[in-house]
This record gives sequence, structure tokens and C-alpha cells, in this order.
Amino acid sequence: MGPIGIFGGTFDPIHYGHLRTAFELQQALRLSEMRFMPCGDPPHRHQPLADAAQRLAMVRAAVEGQEGFLVDDRELRRGGPSYTVDTLAALREEWTEAPLCLVIGMDAFLGLPRWHRWLEILRLAHVVVAHRPGWRAPDMGTLGELLAERGTSRVRDLHTTRAGAIFVHAVTQLEISSTEVRALIRAGRDPRFLMPDPVRRIILDSGCYAATEDH
Ligand code: ATP
Repeated sequence: MGPIGIFGGTFDPIHYGHLRTAFELQQALRLSEMRFMPCGDPPHRHQPLADAAQRLAMVRAAVEGQEGFLVDDRELRRGGPSYTVDTLAALREEWTEAPLCLVIGMDAFLGLPRWHRWLEILRLAHVVVAHRPGWRAPDMGTLGELLAERGTSRVRDLHTTRAGAIFVHAVTQLEISSTEVRALIRAGRDPRFLMPDPVRRIILDSGCYAATEDH
């Protein structure tokens, strides 16, 4: 069995920046599966605008029919703060031997040392960092040192060990962010072609970003 990818996020809403990144990583890293994991109560950032059920429905609609893409709603079901370390520990109990690859964008990676029990995360999983427009890999400080120590460019390392490596990968740069998608919808514009059409339909039918105050 190949590594299992775990792509966590608020997905408020999910868009092609997420989906294309997940697909390119699934292929490049030869992942057995990519699990999209919408978070419930994100401890590190503002609260999502769409509620948990809407965000989950959008993620489900986005991955529908794509081989190897799965939706994992355990963080929504758990309630309370969604700490990645707890999620990975639960996954590790289910998959004792498979490598786990936590996928995050470069912007999220730069904040990693602020995550709850962050060093434990690397004992439970590899961290796969996707380049994101506007963000550069750190070359100094805690994360610079960590990259020098744990960084690898060999996909094989993600298959032969269960956890502990950091793999930085250049993906097609799509300058889409959920924040900008929400702003566009609030301004009365159409989010067509920024996300799969079934996701757009959920947004338009529910009006979930139409008249909200953003952060
Ligand atoms: P926001 O604009 O609200 O911050 P976001 O799209 O960055 O939204 P999340 O849904 O939490 O927020 O993102 C989940 C993960 O996907 C994060 O690790 C983030 O870095 C990554 N990501 C988001 N958009 C892109 C993109 N366009 N390209 C690559 N990675 C992305």
C-alpha cells in the first residue's frame, strides 16, 4: 500500500487551487488515496463562514467521481478544536504501517511551529508542502533548519518510511484563495471556473456567502 495523503483545510469554499494541488500530489507521490478533511473549529484561524454541513457538502460535491479522492469528516464529527496532531494519531491507530502524508500549502507550513504539539506531527506523518503563489520556502530559523534536516526530494523516502520527512513540491500555481472567492460572491459576481460547477451550485442555491460579513 502506498502513502495516504491527508489534505486538511477549512474549504470555505473548496476551489480548483485545492483540487489541482491534491491531484498533482496524488500522482507525483503515487498516493493510494487522498483524504480531504474539512476542519471543524480551526484553532489557528478565523471561524469559517459556511457552516460545517455546507463545507462538507461542497467538498463531497468537488471530489465526486474522482478516483482515489475521499472525504473524511472525522474532524467535523469530533467537535471541539480540530488539532491535526489528534487527527493523525487517530489515523495512525487505523493504519499502523502505511506512510501518512499531511499535505499543506507553503503559507500553512510557515505557521507550523504555532500548531498544537507540532513536533509530534512529524512523528506521526510526513509533511508534504505545496508551493503557493506569493510564499517562499524558509531558509533560516526553526523551519529552515528543520527543512535542512528532514527535507527530501525523493518520492521513495515517502514510501519506505512511515513518517518524519518533509517534501516540498512545486505544483501548478493557481492564484485562487477562498477569501477572494467569498469576496467575489459577496460583490455579486459569479465564481464560475474557480471551482467545479456542483460546488458553485451549492453556493448559489444556499446563498451561503452572499450577504455575510467577512473577516
Ligand atoms: P483562505 O483564503 O480563506 O485562507 P485557503 O484556501 O488558504 O483559504 P484552506 O481551505 O484552509 O484555506 O486551505 C487548505 C490548504 O490548502 C492549506 O494548506 C492551503 O495552504 C492550501 N491551499 C489553498 N489554496 C491553495 C492554492 N491556490 N494553491 C495551493 N495550495 C492552496
